[in-house]
Amino acid sequence: MIKAKHISKHYGELKVLDNINLEIQQKEIISIVGPSGVGKTTLLQILGTLEQPDQNKDSFLEINGQQINGLKKKALARFRNENIGFIFQFHQLLPEFSAIENICIPAFIKNTSRVDAEKKAMELLGYLDLKHRANHKPNELSGGEQQRVAVARALINQPKVIFADEPSGNLDSASANKLHQLFLKLRDEFDQTFVIVTHNEELADMADRKLEMKDGQFV
Ligand code: ATP
Repeated sequence: MIKAKHISKHYGELKVLDNINLEIQQKEIISIVGPSGVGKTTLLQILGTLEQPDQNKDSFLEINGQQINGLKKKALARFRNENIGFIFQFHQLLPEFSAIENICIPAFIKNTSRVDAEKKAMELLGYLDLKHRANHKPNELSGGEQQRVAVARALINQPKVIFADEPSGNLDSASANKLHQLFLKLRDEFDQTFVIVTHNEELADMADRKLEMKDGQFV
């Protein structure tokens, strides 16, 4: 599903990633852990095609059979929107839009019709036990509900892989646990692949593989 070879990243003089090699299979949940500042988010952003690794001739990234190196900006944006979902700690829902409108945004970008997008969004809201909150704005939802809306938004285009950065970092332990169980359910029912950066031990440990970073590499 994901093949990354010889991924390095410098910010000026600062070496953040040092020749990372990683293969991820479909239906795997990978957790990436390690101390603050070690490069976890940087790696997630590179794997998620939001950030570029250092350009060296051996560096290689393939997602779902598509080689990412060399894709032009527009093609990359389209590929990302159709194949990758993102969930962040601060879920970045748009405050002026309702839950269902937020969920539909990636589908609209993909030119899905409003009727089809809303139908799919309602299915997801039902699945996430949130149908009754469809027309509420983010500030009228609890933290856990907002995060489930963000999960629905990440899922609407049926991405091959979801990248999550501290997805439960902002939640109380009951809501965090509910979110973690949801990831397992999505993995089991839809073969959903996840790459998750987290400081949450429960989430890190329930992954199929836990990768620990130190000095820009896995230990
Ligand atoms: P945390 O657990 O605190 O979120 P992290 O392991 O995710 O940390 P990164 O966010 O990947 O760490 O950052 C790795 C290093 O790169 C840090 O020293 C950070 O300050 C630096 N860094 C990250 N992004 C940039 C940037 N755009 N420009 C310059 N330096 C950056």
